Amino acid sequence: NRTSHANRSVSQVDPGGTVSEASNYIGGSFGRGSAEPLDVIDPATGAVVRTYGSDDASSVAAAVAAASAAYPEWSRATPAERSGALHALAAELTAREDELVTQECLQTGKPRRLAAGFDVPGSIDNVQFFAGAARRLDGMASGEYSGDHTSSIRREPIGVVGSIAPWNYPLQMAVWKVLPAIAAGNTIVLKPAENTPLTTMLLAEACEAAGIPAGVVNVVNGTGPAVGSALVSSPDLAMTSFTGSTATGRVIAGLAAVNGTRLHLELGGKAPFVVFDDADLDAAVHGAVAGSLINTGQDCTAATRAYVHRSVFDEFVAGVADLMRGIRLGTQDDPDTDLGPLVSFRQRDKVAGMVEKAVAEGARAVCGGTIPGGALADGAFYEPTLIVDAAQDSSIVQDEVFGPVLVAIPFDTDDEGLALANDCPFGLAASAWTGSVFRAHRAARELAAGTVWINDHIPIISEMPHGGYKASGYGKDMSAYSLDDYTQLKHVMTELTGAVQ
Ligand code: NAD
Repeated sequence: NRTSHANRSVSQVDPGGTVSEASNYIGGSFGRGSAEPLDVIDPATGAVVRTYGSDDASSVAAAVAAASAAYPEWSRATPAERSGALHALAAELTAREDELVTQECLQTGKPRRLAAGFDVPGSIDNVQFFAGAARRLDGMASGEYSGDHTSSIRREPIGVVGSIAPWNYPLQMAVWKVLPAIAAGNTIVLKPAENTPLTTMLLAEACEAAGIPAGVVNVVNGTGPAVGSALVSSPDLAMTSFTGSTATGRVIAGLAAVNGTRLHLELGGKAPFVVFDDADLDAAVHGAVAGSLINTGQDCTAATRAYVHRSVFDEFVAGVADLMRGIRLGTQDDPDTDLGPLVSFRQRDKVAGMVEKAVAEGARAVCGGTIPGGALADGAFYEPTLIVDAAQDSSIVQDEVFGPVLVAIPFDTDDEGLALANDCPFGLAASAWTGSVFRAHRAARELAAGTVWINDHIPIISEMPHGGYKASGYGKDMSAYSLDDYTQLKHVMTELTGAVQ
């Protein structure tokens, strides 16, 4: 029951309208699901910015069928053909840069400065990277390993990929899923988070305008339990790639296991930030504030646990609190805004609840720990918060908060600092701050995380892989390494003598 209004562009939709509009892009046409309508809410004001009829299992089935139908031709396109289509996609996204920034900010509340400086240009850079990488799908060494045979390796796509993305960086997460999949010759069905569908629909529009063949990229929208689980449960998927919380990742792993589908999981994080006594303390203080407040703390690699040598602990805490108190909260378009709201009131209340519990257990908020009043009371805002005196085994230290909250804990020896940093189920990212090359390399070796920064925290680049250790998942986004996840290797062995009867 997908009502198709072919070629209806989402950007023709009144951005302030509340009517149901396109919710899916299937086989090259935009359509509207007839399941329960869902609201997209501006978390800075609480206003409804769009209502759309969500999709259901029949849209999912249609999208998987469209992706299956498109697969044979796309998988056999030459690398140069696929690369050309991806370069065209980058150009179409660039032409929509302003609209992408506006809609990204509207649905997440993030400041325009962040979306215009990071989310949108970072996404376009990623598309450009994979347009190049599509032509470097090299195999491995081939040769003769038996006297009578020659061996070669074919690197081949897998088939239809089903992807599910979160709401924190909606466009970037969609691009991180779609691009390596289609660069390698797969086709894809993507479901964005139900509260942030807008820029993924613009990505679909750009795919259509770029001439990416119908069915190569498909989008469906709706809640996780309704639409996401229908997608992951499809027996026709060759692979599921998911970015989101560890709890949901485990549900998805169970659903994928029923069909034996290949899995790629990018899950939660709880990044440690280790400050040794020889660190440039001013740089560490600035790095901790920037690293913990990035995207209002809704970043899976955000600094969340600062382990600081006792000799510099008080100075670090005072410096961070001082900077945090100067952070200006505000709406997307206000040029003075440093920090936007949380993505939703639910997320804001979750953060507030975790801080309240920590304080009830004996921790102390040096700054923040409150929901601001006044003009900000209509939005899902929360003050930048620095917590001390929290126990290492408490929830505020061990569980993902996903808000503007940093916990600081002192340590006495290098061994203790590194051990505390690793004493957590997550392992997505970590940083170490030191002036010593020995400590830097030792920390890089010891910290159990997919990314370790030395004297910085947060930067990512399209050329380098991003992915977790431990409960943060497995598989890599970005970089040529992600193409390993979205391809499979075939060994071709040819008898040379003609003597086999
Ligand atoms: P979430 O797990 O609640 O939802 C993510 C997606 O899964 C959404 O699209 C949602 O609709 C869907 N979903 C929910 N339940 C489902 C189910 N039963 N079956 C199928 N799909 C389902 O996560 P979120 O709150 O949207 O995002 C925040 C989380 O994402 C944080 O834990 C964060 O660390 C993580 N994250 C990780 C990375 C990474 O690269 N590792 C990047 C960004 C975000």
